[in-house]
Amino acid sequence: MASLSPLLKQATPVIVERGEGVYLYDEDGRRFLDFTAGIGVTSTGHCHPRVVAAAQEQIGKLIHGQYTTVMHRPLLTLAERLGEVLPEPLDSVFFSNSGSEAVEAALRLARHATGRPNVVVFHGSFHGRTIGAASMTTSGTKFRAGFSPIMGGVAISPFPTAHRYGWDEATATEFALRELDYVLATVTAPAETAAFVIEPVLGEGGYVPANPAFMAGLRERADKHGILLVVDEVQTGWGRTGRFWGHEHFGVTPDVLVTAKGLASGFPLSAIAASSDLMAKAWPGSQGGTYGGNVVACAAALATLDVIADEKLVDNARDVGATLEAGLNKVAADTPAISDVRGLGLMLGNEFRTADGEPDAATAARAQQEAASRGLLLLTCGPFGNVVRMIPPLVVTEQQVDDALEIWSGVV
Ligand code: PLP
Repeated sequence: MASLSPLLKQATPVIVERGEGVYLYDEDGRRFLDFTAGIGVTSTGHCHPRVVAAAQEQIGKLIHGQYTTVMHRPLLTLAERLGEVLPEPLDSVFFSNSGSEAVEAALRLARHATGRPNVVVFHGSFHGRTIGAASMTTSGTKFRAGFSPIMGGVAISPFPTAHRYGWDEATATEFALRELDYVLATVTAPAETAAFVIEPVLGEGGYVPANPAFMAGLRERADKHGILLVVDEVQTGWGRTGRFWGHEHFGVTPDVLVTAKGLASGFPLSAIAASSDLMAKAWPGSQGGTYGGNVVACAAALATLDVIADEKLVDNARDVGATLEAGLNKVAADTPAISDVRGLGLMLGNEFRTADGEPDAATAARAQQEAASRGLLLLTCGPFGNVVRMIPPLVVTEQQVDDALEIWSGVV
């Protein structure tokens, strides 16, 4: 009998058997409010009947139709329909299985298209765990330590994190843009820089939204120097932030958009999108893998698109997200250990600090464990592990938010 690798360590000792909407049920039938959504994946709720039906229908016809050999209709239809939600001029899409693979695809495309070696990423970034994506990840040493040499050609510049220094957003933004200019002048010359790679809201880095001035500054420098703006929407896409894409909050258009997680309601599927001209600069065979764009996952993604539109889940994320944020702020006002509540839509984090202002991962972890024992599943994040995040399925109701807030206020 083989035992589980310690790599499979769980945040909570729960063995789940089934899911329905915002709830997960363990093997003893105990019900949990799932405010993790499988790390922001099951936006349409666990086992949405329309997603289940689409996947079941597809699985009876074809499970695997490999796109380098034969094409299948769900992938073709999904590519067409993504045109309904992608910003112009991003009219060409490429599919793989996970967020990390899509990040790698974007990196490769950026290097191919520009002929330049380097990328700039931002403090607190998380882009995945494959070697390339981990090399672009700066939200914790655990993601990079011990498997050097990582990929070269990655320069790191500050993300505006006003909350860390008690600054206002304008000061944090000015600082971050000045530092970016310094990085471009001294670390990676613009002519050697293929891309800026950025999350609209730092995810694993602690749920820190960017802002319009910072994103406009990136766009301006990208345009000036022929650098591509790659926006990693793996965690922020598909309505999570109360807009379909996170970058929509900031009034900029990316050159390459990376998406996964909410795309197929739990089936492994990811994509990058770019203009046809840009995408044409990569060549067939340079990207891809055996399972990319799986036919069942594509069928689930098509149903996901319909559910998000028909059930107005983006609006729900905005409105119910506002209720959750207001409730969390109320709890924080009575809880000195919570120093900040922040995020967008249904992507909200509660930062824990000690009385001395130090990151307090122990109290965050205790609150998360205690919440789980009372039936509310949560996750921590942040470079110091001191942020408890709330990312429920986008189908969550005001009542379920009230239920979660009642548990939360009882554990902090
Ligand atoms: N990019 C971002 C912003 C993410 O949040 C994640 C995962 O959390 C990834 C990339 C990597 O995605 P995956 O875990 O599917 O490889």
